[in-house]
Amino acid sequence: MENYVRTDLASAQGKVEVWAWIEKVRDQKSMQFVILRDRSGMLQMTIEKAKQPEMAEVVSHFIQDYYVKVRGTVVPNEYVKLGKKELIPDTLEVLSKAEVSPIDGESSIDQRLDYRWIDLRDPKKRLIFEAQTALTQGMRNYCIENGFIEVHCPTTIKNESESGSGVFEVKYFDKKAYLIQSPQFYKQMAIAAGFEKVFIATPIYRAEKSYTRKHTTEFSGFDLEFANVSSVEDVMKVEEELIHAGLKEVSEKYGEKIKEMLGVDVIVPTLPFPRVTMKEVYKILEDECDYPLDEGADLDTEAENLLSAYMMKKNNHQFFFVKDYPSDVRPFYSMHKADDPAYSETYDLYYKDIEITSGAMREHRPDILAKQIADKGIDPKTMEENYINFFKYGCPPHGGFGLGLDRLTMIMLDIPTIKEAMFVFRGPDRLNP
Ligand code: ATP
Ligand code: MG
Repeated sequence: MENYVRTDLASAQGKVEVWAWIEKVRDQKSMQFVILRDRSGMLQMTIEKAKQPEMAEVVSHFIQDYYVKVRGTVVPNEYVKLGKKELIPDTLEVLSKAEVSPIDGESSIDQRLDYRWIDLRDPKKRLIFEAQTALTQGMRNYCIENGFIEVHCPTTIKNESESGSGVFEVKYFDKKAYLIQSPQFYKQMAIAAGFEKVFIATPIYRAEKSYTRKHTTEFSGFDLEFANVSSVEDVMKVEEELIHAGLKEVSEKYGEKIKEMLGVDVIVPTLPFPRVTMKEVYKILEDECDYPLDEGADLDTEAENLLSAYMMKKNNHQFFFVKDYPSDVRPFYSMHKADDPAYSETYDLYYKDIEITSGAMREHRPDILAKQIADKGIDPKTMEENYINFFKYGCPPHGGFGLGLDRLTMIMLDIPTIKEAMFVFRGPDRLNP
Protein backbone atom coordinates (compact mmCIF):
# COMPACT_ATOMS: atom_id res chain seq x y z
CA MET A 1 0.00 0.00 0.00
CA GLU A 2 2.90 2.30 -0.72
CA ASN A 3 2.99 5.50 -2.77
CA TYR A 4 -0.17 7.13 -1.48
CA VAL A 5 0.62 10.74 -0.67
CA ARG A 6 -1.04 12.01 2.49
CA THR A 7 -2.70 15.33 1.65
CA ASP A 8 -5.61 17.62 2.41
CA LEU A 9 -8.59 17.69 0.09
CA ALA A 10 -7.84 21.01 -1.61
CA SER A 11 -4.43 19.91 -2.81
CA ALA A 12 -5.32 16.29 -3.57
CA GLN A 13 -4.06 15.06 -6.91
CA GLY A 14 -2.81 11.70 -8.18
CA LYS A 15 -2.49 8.85 -5.70
CA VAL A 16 -3.51 10.14 -2.31
CA GLU A 17 -4.47 9.27 1.23
CA VAL A 18 -7.00 11.64 2.76
CA TRP A 19 -8.62 11.77 6.21
CA ALA A 20 -11.92 13.59 6.07
CA TRP A 21 -15.48 14.07 7.22
CA ILE A 22 -18.49 12.87 5.25
CA GLU A 23 -20.41 15.93 4.16
CA LYS A 24 -23.08 14.32 2.02
CA VAL A 25 -23.90 11.02 0.32
CA ARG A 26 -25.92 10.67 -2.86
CA ASP A 27 -26.69 6.97 -3.12
CA GLN A 28 -27.97 6.22 -6.62
CA LYS A 29 -28.88 3.03 -8.38
CA SER A 30 -25.47 2.20 -9.73
CA MET A 31 -23.27 4.97 -8.31
CA GLN A 32 -22.52 6.61 -5.00
CA PHE A 33 -21.32 10.20 -4.86
CA VAL A 34 -19.81 11.08 -1.52
CA ILE A 35 -18.73 14.61 -0.68
CA LEU A 36 -15.72 14.62 1.63
CA ARG A 37 -14.89 17.64 3.74
CA ASP A 38 -11.88 18.89 5.67
CA ARG A 39 -10.59 22.33 6.70
CA SER A 40 -9.14 22.94 3.26
CA GLY A 41 -12.35 22.29 1.31
CA MET A 42 -14.40 19.51 -0.28
CA LEU A 43 -13.80 16.73 -2.75
CA GLN A 44 -16.16 14.26 -4.41
CA MET A 45 -15.49 10.56 -4.02
CA THR A 46 -17.19 8.36 -6.61
CA ILE A 47 -17.98 4.68 -6.20
CA GLU A 48 -19.25 2.42 -8.92
CA LYS A 49 -21.38 -0.11 -7.03
CA ALA A 50 -20.88 -3.00 -9.44
CA LYS A 51 -17.11 -2.61 -9.27
CA GLN A 52 -16.80 -2.14 -5.51
CA PRO A 53 -19.83 -3.84 -3.91
CA GLU A 54 -18.27 -4.23 -0.45
CA MET A 55 -17.27 -0.60 -0.23
CA ALA A 56 -20.68 0.44 -1.54
CA GLU A 57 -22.31 -1.51 1.26
CA VAL A 58 -20.22 0.36 3.86
CA VAL A 59 -20.95 3.73 2.23
CA SER A 60 -24.68 3.02 2.11
CA HIS A 61 -24.74 3.40 5.93
CA PHE A 62 -22.92 6.72 5.99
CA ILE A 63 -24.55 9.82 7.33
CA GLN A 64 -23.11 13.29 7.70
CA ASP A 65 -20.02 13.61 9.91
CA TYR A 66 -18.68 10.11 9.76
CA TYR A 67 -14.90 10.37 9.64
CA VAL A 68 -13.01 8.26 7.14
CA LYS A 69 -9.60 7.47 5.77
CA VAL A 70 -9.50 6.94 2.02
CA ARG A 71 -6.73 5.85 -0.28
CA GLY A 72 -7.25 6.24 -3.97
CA THR A 73 -6.60 8.25 -7.09
CA VAL A 74 -7.85 11.71 -7.98
CA VAL A 75 -8.81 11.89 -11.63
CA PRO A 76 -10.13 14.76 -13.75
CA ASN A 77 -13.82 14.62 -14.60
CA GLU A 78 -15.39 17.62 -16.26
CA TYR A 79 -18.90 16.52 -15.19
CA VAL A 80 -18.10 16.94 -11.52
CA LYS A 81 -19.25 20.38 -10.41
CA LEU A 82 -16.92 20.41 -7.42
CA GLY A 83 -13.50 21.21 -8.87
CA LYS A 84 -13.94 19.06 -12.01
CA LYS A 85 -12.23 16.13 -10.35
CA GLU A 86 -13.14 13.09 -8.30
CA LEU A 87 -11.49 10.61 -6.02
CA ILE A 88 -11.76 6.96 -7.03
CA PRO A 89 -11.10 5.01 -3.83
CA ASP A 90 -8.99 1.87 -3.52
CA THR A 91 -9.57 1.44 0.21
CA LEU A 92 -11.90 3.02 2.69
CA GLU A 93 -11.70 2.85 6.46
CA VAL A 94 -14.22 4.28 8.92
CA LEU A 95 -12.29 6.01 11.73
CA SER A 96 -15.33 7.37 13.52
CA LYS A 97 -19.04 6.79 13.20
CA ALA A 98 -21.48 9.63 13.80
CA GLU A 99 -24.99 9.76 15.17
CA VAL A 100 -27.50 12.12 13.62
CA SER A 101 -26.62 15.66 14.67
CA PRO A 102 -28.85 17.00 17.45
CA ILE A 103 -28.73 20.49 15.92
CA ASP A 104 -29.49 21.94 12.53
CA GLY A 105 -30.17 25.27 10.83
CA GLU A 106 -33.43 25.62 12.78
CA SER A 107 -31.88 25.22 16.23
CA SER A 108 -31.89 28.10 18.70
CA ILE A 109 -28.64 29.68 19.78
CA ASP A 110 -28.85 27.94 23.16
CA GLN A 111 -29.38 24.54 21.56
CA ARG A 112 -26.41 25.25 19.33
CA LEU A 113 -24.25 26.29 22.28
CA ASP A 114 -25.13 23.01 24.03
CA TYR A 115 -23.45 21.29 21.09
CA ARG A 116 -20.91 24.00 20.37
CA TRP A 117 -18.36 21.61 18.90
CA ILE A 118 -20.81 20.57 16.21
CA ASP A 119 -21.98 24.14 15.65
CA LEU A 120 -18.37 25.16 15.04
CA ARG A 121 -17.96 22.73 12.14
CA ASP A 122 -19.46 25.45 9.95
CA PRO A 123 -16.52 27.02 8.05
CA LYS A 124 -18.00 30.49 8.62
CA LYS A 125 -17.71 29.97 12.35
CA ARG A 126 -14.21 28.58 12.09
CA LEU A 127 -13.24 31.70 10.18
CA ILE A 128 -13.99 33.77 13.29
CA PHE A 129 -11.19 31.97 15.11
CA GLU A 130 -8.84 32.03 12.16
CA ALA A 131 -9.34 35.81 12.09
CA GLN A 132 -8.85 36.03 15.85
CA THR A 133 -5.59 34.13 15.53
CA ALA A 134 -4.36 36.73 13.04
CA LEU A 135 -5.61 39.52 15.30
CA THR A 136 -3.67 38.31 18.32
CA GLN A 137 -0.67 37.49 16.17
CA GLY A 138 -0.59 41.08 14.88
CA MET A 139 -0.93 42.47 18.38
CA ARG A 140 1.61 40.07 19.84
CA ASN A 141 4.10 40.90 17.08
CA TYR A 142 3.63 44.58 17.82
CA CYS A 143 4.38 43.99 21.50
CA ILE A 144 7.43 41.87 20.82
CA GLU A 145 8.81 44.23 18.16
CA ASN A 146 8.47 47.07 20.67
CA GLY A 147 10.30 45.31 23.47
CA PHE A 148 7.38 44.15 25.62
CA ILE A 149 7.89 41.11 27.87
CA GLU A 150 5.05 38.59 28.02
CA VAL A 151 4.10 37.82 31.62
CA HIS A 152 1.94 34.91 32.79
CA CYS A 153 0.17 35.62 36.03
CA PRO A 154 -2.13 33.74 38.42
CA THR A 155 -5.87 34.05 37.96
CA THR A 156 -6.35 33.84 41.72
CA ILE A 157 -5.82 36.67 44.16
CA LYS A 158 -5.96 36.94 47.94
CA ASN A 159 -8.04 40.10 48.21
CA GLU A 160 -10.85 41.31 46.04
CA SER A 161 -9.19 43.53 43.47
CA GLU A 162 -11.06 46.38 41.82
CA SER A 163 -14.19 46.57 43.93
CA GLY A 164 -16.43 44.28 45.88
CA SER A 165 -18.93 43.78 43.10
CA GLY A 166 -18.65 41.23 40.39
CA VAL A 167 -15.99 39.00 41.90
CA PHE A 168 -16.03 35.19 42.04
CA GLU A 169 -15.03 33.70 45.34
CA VAL A 170 -13.29 30.31 45.31
CA LYS A 171 -12.39 27.85 48.00
CA TYR A 172 -8.61 27.78 48.37
CA PHE A 173 -7.87 24.92 50.77
CA ASP A 174 -9.12 26.27 54.11
CA LYS A 175 -9.08 29.88 52.91
CA LYS A 176 -10.94 32.07 50.48
CA ALA A 177 -9.46 33.35 47.25
CA TYR A 178 -10.89 35.40 44.42
CA LEU A 179 -10.68 35.10 40.66
CA ILE A 180 -9.07 38.12 39.01
CA GLN A 181 -11.32 40.81 37.56
CA SER A 182 -8.28 42.02 35.63
CA PRO A 183 -4.54 41.38 35.76
CA GLN A 184 -4.16 44.97 36.94
CA PHE A 185 -2.21 44.29 40.11
CA TYR A 186 0.13 41.78 38.51
CA LYS A 187 0.99 43.98 35.57
CA GLN A 188 1.68 46.95 37.82
CA MET A 189 3.86 44.66 39.93
CA ALA A 190 5.85 43.90 36.78
CA ILE A 191 6.44 47.63 36.34
CA ALA A 192 7.60 47.88 39.94
CA ALA A 193 9.88 44.94 39.13
CA GLY A 194 11.57 47.04 36.46
CA PHE A 195 10.23 45.14 33.44
CA GLU A 196 9.33 48.51 31.81
CA LYS A 197 6.95 47.05 29.21
CA VAL A 198 4.75 44.00 29.69
CA PHE A 199 1.77 42.31 28.12
CA ILE A 200 -0.46 39.66 29.62
CA ALA A 201 -2.99 37.47 27.84
CA THR A 202 -5.18 35.91 30.51
CA PRO A 203 -8.68 34.77 31.38
CA ILE A 204 -10.59 37.42 33.31
CA TYR A 205 -13.64 36.80 35.46
CA ARG A 206 -16.67 38.99 36.14
CA ALA A 207 -19.39 37.66 38.42
CA GLU A 208 -22.05 39.84 36.88
CA LYS A 209 -25.50 38.78 35.81
CA SER A 210 -25.44 40.82 32.62
CA TYR A 211 -27.50 39.49 29.75
CA THR A 212 -26.26 41.78 26.99
CA ARG A 213 -24.61 41.10 23.65
CA LYS A 214 -21.21 42.25 24.99
CA HIS A 215 -20.92 40.67 28.44
CA THR A 216 -19.68 37.28 29.53
CA THR A 217 -18.59 36.03 32.93
CA GLU A 218 -15.18 34.91 31.69
CA PHE A 219 -13.35 36.57 28.85
CA SER A 220 -9.91 36.66 27.28
CA GLY A 221 -8.04 39.75 28.31
CA PHE A 222 -5.13 41.25 26.42
CA ASP A 223 -3.46 43.74 28.74
CA LEU A 224 -0.48 46.05 28.35
CA GLU A 225 1.35 48.09 30.96
CA PHE A 226 4.42 50.23 30.46
CA ALA A 227 6.72 52.60 32.30
CA ASN A 228 7.76 56.19 31.73
CA VAL A 229 4.35 57.52 30.87
CA SER A 230 3.73 61.21 31.47
CA SER A 231 0.11 61.50 30.40
CA VAL A 232 -2.81 59.44 29.18
CA GLU A 233 -1.85 60.41 25.62
CA ASP A 234 1.29 58.25 25.90
CA VAL A 235 -0.94 55.28 26.68
CA MET A 236 -3.46 55.96 23.92
CA LYS A 237 -0.70 56.20 21.34
CA VAL A 238 0.47 52.67 22.12
CA GLU A 239 -3.06 51.36 22.03
CA GLU A 240 -3.92 52.78 18.62
CA GLU A 241 -0.72 51.35 17.17
CA LEU A 242 -1.50 47.97 18.72
CA ILE A 243 -5.04 47.90 17.29
CA HIS A 244 -3.74 49.02 13.93
CA ALA A 245 -1.20 46.19 13.90
CA GLY A 246 -3.85 43.61 14.82
CA LEU A 247 -6.40 44.68 12.23
CA LYS A 248 -3.74 44.98 9.53
CA GLU A 249 -2.80 41.35 10.11
CA VAL A 250 -6.46 40.27 9.92
CA SER A 251 -7.09 42.29 6.78
CA GLU A 252 -4.00 41.01 5.00
CA LYS A 253 -4.55 37.36 5.91
CA TYR A 254 -8.32 37.04 5.88
CA GLY A 255 -9.82 40.30 4.56
CA GLU A 256 -11.07 38.79 1.31
CA LYS A 257 -12.33 35.58 2.88
CA ILE A 258 -14.18 37.54 5.57
CA LYS A 259 -15.78 39.75 2.93
CA GLU A 260 -16.81 36.75 0.87
CA MET A 261 -18.02 34.45 3.66
CA LEU A 262 -19.27 36.88 6.32
CA GLY A 263 -20.01 39.93 4.20
CA VAL A 264 -17.95 42.17 6.45
CA ASP A 265 -15.23 44.68 5.56
CA VAL A 266 -12.37 44.67 8.02
CA ILE A 267 -11.16 48.25 7.81
CA VAL A 268 -7.58 48.93 8.87
CA PRO A 269 -7.97 52.19 10.81
CA THR A 270 -5.91 55.27 10.03
CA LEU A 271 -3.76 56.81 12.78
CA PRO A 272 -4.24 58.76 14.95
CA PHE A 273 -7.72 57.74 16.13
CA PRO A 274 -10.12 60.63 16.85
CA ARG A 275 -10.18 61.81 20.45
CA VAL A 276 -12.70 63.63 22.56
CA THR A 277 -12.55 64.65 26.21
CA MET A 278 -15.35 63.95 28.66
CA LYS A 279 -15.89 67.68 29.08
CA GLU A 280 -16.45 67.92 25.33
CA VAL A 281 -18.70 64.88 25.49
CA TYR A 282 -21.03 66.57 27.99
CA LYS A 283 -21.34 69.49 25.57
CA ILE A 284 -21.87 67.25 22.53
CA LEU A 285 -24.57 65.27 24.30
CA GLU A 286 -26.37 68.40 25.35
CA ASP A 287 -25.94 70.52 22.20
CA GLU A 288 -25.92 67.93 19.43
CA CYS A 289 -27.82 64.97 20.83
CA ASP A 290 -30.42 66.54 23.10
CA TYR A 291 -29.35 64.16 25.84
CA PRO A 292 -27.84 66.20 28.68
CA LEU A 293 -25.85 64.34 31.34
CA ASP A 294 -24.84 65.84 34.65
CA GLU A 295 -21.23 66.91 34.57
CA GLY A 296 -19.28 64.24 36.42
CA ALA A 297 -21.62 61.43 35.39
CA ASP A 298 -20.44 58.33 33.53
CA LEU A 299 -21.79 57.49 30.08
CA ASP A 300 -24.85 55.28 30.06
CA THR A 301 -25.70 53.07 27.10
CA GLU A 302 -27.91 55.66 25.44
CA ALA A 303 -25.16 58.27 25.75
CA GLU A 304 -22.66 55.81 24.30
CA ASN A 305 -24.91 55.16 21.32
CA LEU A 306 -25.58 58.82 20.63
CA LEU A 307 -21.94 59.78 21.02
CA SER A 308 -20.80 56.92 18.75
CA ALA A 309 -23.21 57.99 16.02
CA TYR A 310 -22.02 61.59 16.35
CA MET A 311 -18.32 60.67 16.27
CA MET A 312 -18.77 58.30 13.34
CA LYS A 313 -20.53 60.99 11.32
CA LYS A 314 -18.02 63.66 12.22
CA ASN A 315 -14.82 61.68 11.68
CA ASN A 316 -15.78 58.81 9.38
CA HIS A 317 -13.62 56.57 11.54
CA GLN A 318 -14.65 53.35 13.29
CA PHE A 319 -12.67 54.15 16.45
CA PHE A 320 -12.63 56.98 18.93
CA PHE A 321 -11.10 57.66 22.31
CA VAL A 322 -13.01 59.31 25.13
CA LYS A 323 -10.45 60.67 27.57
CA ASP A 324 -10.13 62.60 30.84
CA TYR A 325 -12.99 60.94 32.73
CA PRO A 326 -14.23 62.33 36.02
CA SER A 327 -12.08 60.76 38.74
CA ASP A 328 -15.19 59.61 40.60
CA VAL A 329 -16.25 57.18 37.88
CA ARG A 330 -12.81 55.56 37.49
CA PRO A 331 -10.96 53.03 39.67
CA PHE A 332 -8.82 54.23 42.57
CA TYR A 333 -5.56 53.43 40.79
CA SER A 334 -6.13 56.09 38.10
CA MET A 335 -3.90 59.19 38.14
CA HIS A 336 -5.89 62.34 38.76
CA LYS A 337 -5.09 65.34 36.57
CA ALA A 338 -2.50 67.51 38.31
CA ASP A 339 -4.26 70.76 37.40
CA ASP A 340 -7.84 69.48 37.71
CA PRO A 341 -8.07 66.57 40.17
CA ALA A 342 -11.80 66.06 39.62
CA TYR A 343 -10.75 64.62 36.25
CA SER A 344 -8.29 61.83 35.55
CA GLU A 345 -5.65 60.62 33.09
CA THR A 346 -7.98 57.93 31.82
CA TYR A 347 -9.71 56.85 28.63
CA ASP A 348 -12.03 54.37 27.01
CA LEU A 349 -11.61 53.26 23.42
CA TYR A 350 -14.75 52.70 21.35
CA TYR A 351 -14.91 50.52 18.21
CA LYS A 352 -18.06 51.15 16.17
CA ASP A 353 -20.39 51.82 19.11
CA ILE A 354 -18.99 49.67 21.90
CA GLU A 355 -16.24 50.12 24.49
CA ILE A 356 -13.40 47.71 23.87
CA THR A 357 -10.78 49.06 26.26
CA SER A 358 -10.29 51.08 29.40
CA GLY A 359 -6.88 52.60 29.90
CA ALA A 360 -5.10 55.07 32.12
CA MET A 361 -2.01 56.50 33.59
CA ARG A 362 -1.74 55.00 37.10
CA GLU A 363 -1.12 56.60 40.45
CA HIS A 364 2.31 55.32 41.51
CA ARG A 365 2.79 57.40 44.72
CA PRO A 366 1.84 55.14 47.64
CA ASP A 367 0.57 57.88 49.96
CA ILE A 368 -1.74 59.36 47.32
CA LEU A 369 -2.81 55.90 46.28
CA ALA A 370 -3.78 55.03 49.86
CA LYS A 371 -5.81 58.20 50.04
CA GLN A 372 -7.60 57.45 46.75
CA ILE A 373 -8.37 53.95 47.98
CA ALA A 374 -9.83 55.31 51.22
CA ASP A 375 -11.84 57.91 49.25
CA LYS A 376 -13.54 55.03 47.40
CA GLY A 377 -14.60 53.57 50.73
CA ILE A 378 -12.09 50.70 50.67
CA ASP A 379 -9.87 50.02 53.67
CA PRO A 380 -6.30 50.69 52.43
CA LYS A 381 -5.01 48.03 54.91
CA THR A 382 -6.59 45.28 52.78
CA MET A 383 -4.73 46.65 49.78
CA GLU A 384 -1.33 47.04 51.30
CA GLU A 385 0.11 43.59 51.11
CA ASN A 386 -0.79 42.81 47.52
CA TYR A 387 -0.91 46.26 46.02
CA ILE A 388 0.20 49.48 47.74
CA ASN A 389 3.49 47.92 48.81
CA PHE A 390 4.45 47.52 45.14
CA PHE A 391 5.04 51.27 45.02
CA LYS A 392 6.92 51.79 48.28
CA TYR A 393 10.32 50.71 47.08
CA GLY A 394 10.58 52.88 43.97
CA CYS A 395 8.42 52.62 40.88
CA PRO A 396 8.42 54.44 37.52
CA PRO A 397 5.32 56.42 36.54
CA HIS A 398 3.39 54.13 34.27
CA GLY A 399 0.15 53.38 32.49
CA GLY A 400 -1.61 50.75 30.47
CA PHE A 401 -4.87 49.30 29.30
CA GLY A 402 -7.01 46.19 29.19
CA LEU A 403 -8.69 44.96 26.06
CA GLY A 404 -11.41 42.32 25.77
CA LEU A 405 -10.44 40.04 22.90
CA ASP A 406 -13.84 38.40 22.57
CA ARG A 407 -15.57 41.74 22.40
CA LEU A 408 -13.05 43.06 19.89
CA THR A 409 -13.59 39.98 17.70
CA MET A 410 -17.37 40.38 17.94
CA ILE A 411 -17.25 43.99 16.79
CA MET A 412 -14.62 43.46 14.13
CA LEU A 413 -16.76 40.80 12.43
CA ASP A 414 -20.20 42.31 13.19
CA ILE A 415 -21.22 39.21 15.13
CA PRO A 416 -24.57 39.88 16.82
CA THR A 417 -23.55 38.51 20.24
CA ILE A 418 -20.38 37.70 22.15
CA LYS A 419 -21.80 34.19 22.64
CA GLU A 420 -20.80 33.44 19.06
CA ALA A 421 -17.55 35.38 19.08
CA MET A 422 -16.10 33.15 21.81
CA PHE A 423 -15.00 29.56 21.34
CA VAL A 424 -16.93 28.64 24.46
CA PHE A 425 -19.29 31.14 26.05
CA ARG A 426 -19.62 31.49 29.80
CA GLY A 427 -22.60 33.34 31.19
CA PRO A 428 -24.66 33.42 34.37
CA ASP A 429 -26.66 30.43 33.11
CA ARG A 430 -24.02 28.58 31.15
CA LEU A 431 -21.24 26.47 32.56
CA ASN A 432 -21.02 23.81 29.85
CA PRO A 433 -19.65 22.50 27.62
P1 ATP B 1 -18.49 47.45 30.43
O1 ATP B 1 -18.71 48.85 30.96
O2 ATP B 1 -18.71 47.32 28.98
O3 ATP B 1 -19.19 46.39 31.25
P2 ATP B 1 -16.07 47.62 31.90
O4 ATP B 1 -15.79 49.07 31.80
O5 ATP B 1 -16.65 47.05 33.13
O6 ATP B 1 -16.94 47.16 30.63
P3 ATP B 1 -13.26 47.13 32.07
O7 ATP B 1 -13.15 46.76 33.49
O8 ATP B 1 -12.88 48.48 31.63
O9 ATP B 1 -14.74 46.81 31.58
O10 ATP B 1 -12.50 46.01 31.23
C1 ATP B 1 -11.66 46.28 30.11
C2 ATP B 1 -12.21 45.64 28.85
O11 ATP B 1 -12.50 44.27 29.05
C3 ATP B 1 -13.52 46.21 28.37
O12 ATP B 1 -13.33 47.38 27.64
C4 ATP B 1 -14.06 45.07 27.53
O13 ATP B 1 -13.43 45.00 26.27
C5 ATP B 1 -13.63 43.88 28.30
N1 ATP B 1 -14.69 43.44 29.18
C6 ATP B 1 -15.00 43.91 30.41
N2 ATP B 1 -16.02 43.26 30.97
C7 ATP B 1 -16.38 42.33 30.07
C8 ATP B 1 -17.37 41.32 30.09
N3 ATP B 1 -18.17 41.14 31.13
N4 ATP B 1 -17.47 40.52 29.01
C9 ATP B 1 -16.63 40.69 27.96
N5 ATP B 1 -15.67 41.61 27.89
C10 ATP B 1 -15.53 42.44 28.94
MG1 MG C 1 -14.16 50.01 31.10
